[in-house]
Amino acid sequence: MKHVLVTGGAGYIGSHACKVLRAAGYVPVTYDNLSTGWADAVKFGPLERGELTDRARLDEVFARYQPAAVMHFAALSQVGEAMREPGKYWHNNVTGSLSLIEAAVAAGCLNFVFSSTCATYGDQDGVVLDENSAQMPLNAYGKSKRAIEDMLVDFEASHGLNSVIFRYFNVAGADPEGEVGEFHRPETHLIPLMLDAIDGKRPALTVFGTDYDTPDGTCIRDYVHVMDLVDAHVLGVKWLEDGKGSRVFNLGTGKGFSVFEVIENSRAVTNRAVPYEVGARRAGDAVRLVSGSTRAESELGWRPARSNMETMIADAWRWHQSGHYDR
Ligand code: UDP
Repeated sequence: MKHVLVTGGAGYIGSHACKVLRAAGYVPVTYDNLSTGWADAVKFGPLERGELTDRARLDEVFARYQPAAVMHFAALSQVGEAMREPGKYWHNNVTGSLSLIEAAVAAGCLNFVFSSTCATYGDQDGVVLDENSAQMPLNAYGKSKRAIEDMLVDFEASHGLNSVIFRYFNVAGADPEGEVGEFHRPETHLIPLMLDAIDGKRPALTVFGTDYDTPDGTCIRDYVHVMDLVDAHVLGVKWLEDGKGSRVFNLGTGKGFSVFEVIENSRAVTNRAVPYEVGARRAGDAVRLVSGSTRAESELGWRPARSNMETMIADAWRWHQSGHYDR
């Protein structure tokens, strides 16, 4: 069987990617330093512990498995932290990715699937965000991801590295079979924090700003189910294996939900009240991030089947209540 090296395979999106890779007939090899991931989330292939900046360790892992492709998820990804500690984002995300890209090229592994973000677009309220939109990130998280996209372009020109770059909108939900799910410590994301507030693990959700220029004053995001998102990644590996070359794809549904709309959907799905309070805006947040592209559907054949808000919340809620979440 072919191997795929999955950096960050012990994390939220990476662990779901390993599950679908395995189902598609690949062996996912997780490369993770377990700084934010969990060894018990690595269920579908081997775990190789290591730092992205440890080139000797990366070389050893590439030599051992000779992967057909890399899926690069490992990264710091919190907007708030990126505003407070930008250096961490430049060191970890950019230096780590450079080391990984150089190791992949040296090993002759020229198929690279990269986890980028709609945060690279920044705040362009009113502009349709497709893959050709300008990238004007607002924070070191988005800037670090844009820098890695630039790196991939350079290494294609110099070494023939082929990349599929996915710019994710907001990822939510969990494996409906309950084998893996979302688990961050600390948790910073809207839906898991809301579910925590619903079942009393936290006193209340804080809504970050109600004075934005949107119909209800709260920020708008485009939410995509993690299972749909990782399905796109497997299609990305196949795209590269078929020799279709480098391509950028937005992964979103094109439908925006405000924070208050997500709260209302959570109330309806769980049939429980959502305790919340209104707080200040969070620095670095864009007003509205909604994908304006269907390229992934038309070119990759992506069919996002679970990315409606009720299903995402229901799957997240089932995982939340499963006990895994309390580890
Ligand atoms: N948000 C919020 N309260 C929270 C966490 C998030 O109001 O405790 C808002 C945040 O301002 C943004 C949306 O929820 O508008 C999604 O934030 P999240 O951190 O989940 O993802 P991001 O958009 O930063 O990737």
